[in-house]
Amino acid sequence: MPADDWTWAKVRIKEALSMVSVVEAYFPLRRSGRTFSALCPFHKEKTPSFIVFPESDTFRCFGCGKGGDIFTFVQEMERVSFPEAMEILARRAGVPLQKGPARDQGLKSKLLSLLEAAQDFYARTLEGPQGGPARDYLARRGLTDAAPLFGLGYAPPSWTALVERVSSLGVDTNLLVKAGLAKKGDLGIHDYFRNRLMIPIRDALGRVVGFGGRVLDDSEPKYLNSPETPLFSKGKLLFGLSRARRSKVDRFVVVEGYTDVMAAALAGVEGVVAGLGTSFTPDQARLLERYGKKQVVLVFDGDQAGRKAAERALDIFASSSLDVRVVLLGEGRDPADLVRDQGGAALEALLDAAQPAFDAKLELVFGRNDKEDTAGAAQAAREIVEYLGKVQDPVRREKLLIHGASKLGVSPRALGSALEKAFRRERRRGRAAAGPSREDPFRVPPEEAVEVRAQEEILWAVLHDLSLLGEVVPESFRDPGCRRILEGIYKAVETMGEEGPFPWETLIDAVREDSSLVAKIAFWRNETPKAKDLSQWVKQNDRTLRKLADQRRLRALEEELRKAKEAGDQQRVLQFRR
Ligand SMILES: [Zn+2]
Repeated sequence: MPADDWTWAKVRIKEALSMVSVVEAYFPLRRSGRTFSALCPFHKEKTPSFIVFPESDTFRCFGCGKGGDIFTFVQEMERVSFPEAMEILARRAGVPLQKGPARDQGLKSKLLSLLEAAQDFYARTLEGPQGGPARDYLARRGLTDAAPLFGLGYAPPSWTALVERVSSLGVDTNLLVKAGLAKKGDLGIHDYFRNRLMIPIRDALGRVVGFGGRVLDDSEPKYLNSPETPLFSKGKLLFGLSRARRSKVDRFVVVEGYTDVMAAALAGVEGVVAGLGTSFTPDQARLLERYGKKQVVLVFDGDQAGRKAAERALDIFASSSLDVRVVLLGEGRDPADLVRDQGGAALEALLDAAQPAFDAKLELVFGRNDKEDTAGAAQAAREIVEYLGKVQDPVRREKLLIHGASKLGVSPRALGSALEKAFRRERRRGRAAAGPSREDPFRVPPEEAVEVRAQEEILWAVLHDLSLLGEVVPESFRDPGCRRILEGIYKAVETMGEEGPFPWETLIDAVREDSSLVAKIAFWRNETPKAKDLSQWVKQNDRTLRKLADQRRLRALEEELRKAKEAGDQQRVLQFRR
């Protein structure tokens, strides 16, 4: 498609679709003055900083800094390229995208079409005369209704069923190999999956990118996944995500198997996803962080292997801002058994009672190390410190540190100094520079930084509770950026109606060049503390500022005195004496 046509289509799509309507197709927006706001879908937060500006048809999140137009939004939301976002929005707007002969269909979209065709072929085979054994298998496991819901299919035992079907359609069978659906052998190209129940694996957009194939008997391997292809990367996908991310519940549930996801869905439990037979990866954790849900519950078998897998996942999630919880099931039990025997409510009850991540981690650590024994306690402390070192938010880290210390039966100070040592060691190795910036809670920063920080912290408290504005002493705000923000807050409050909402737009307008600082200050913490704590917070920081101001005044006087002495100005010196 020539560039001109893109531009034309872009304009037509923008005319047809407002920013508000595009966003509201995903989640509701709340009007606040001339703008709309919502919790940001791209980062975790508790107060809305995702703002839609209807006049310019743009959006911006003042928490994570993401912003743009409808195309950028869909690209971010669906994790797709610009042309793909164009296609999605063109379809919604009813604007035809010309696909002239000049526009070659990319390899990815060719493979996608092929995978879709294969899914259709497998699904038909499951329904047809050859599908009997697979249908029996599903019936035995109570998963008959999962077939239409998840698009299940059956790969017949033949070596060439799919290959023949595809070549009869005139498609190059080499593409089948690239799509992970066929293999090149000594006797030519043959089907990759044979005599297996076929479970389509979709990306976050719901497009089939690969398959999990399960044997119908006890032969091995029980599951065969698609090989890695340009579309299929085991560590970066989650089975069930395209459904789960759209569910109304505010949590994801991570289970171990495909059948667990399907059984849970049939039992009415929403938000359930599974890894692809490998251990949980950081990419998968990040994937779950994208959709603005609050909680992740990890469900694992309670046996040795399950505990190990749970701990690996816990370690991966240590740096996450999500509220992570864990359920360890009875040995050898899986969620599919549970919902089959006791219904969805039984699983829901377990999820609601899930253990907070750090408590689960402590239990696993104490299970390995006898904390009553000196050597055991030392080893346990090392493992706890290693975990805490990954926690990004300093407030959360400190809270966990105190909790962990009390469970271990040592003082927070002892555990804290162990953590400090670990941070120092890491800094020496230079790893800290490469990784995400991490505040060292024990470093004594220079006076200047203390002062700016105190101002930032007051602003943070005020942005959470505007009634604290009365306790702020504007004169103590010496940092120009913080000062401008404080003035912006005064201005915003002036234009605010009786009951709020806080006019972010006014603040942002007032502090244009400092808006990233506002974002940093307003959202650097995930937890909103209680009103009483916030007031304390302001008072304490105010004391810090006053103390620093006093020190500065004193130093200035001393300097003046020294100068007077040097200049031999006895009168002035005497003045000081008095
Ligand atoms: Zn955001």
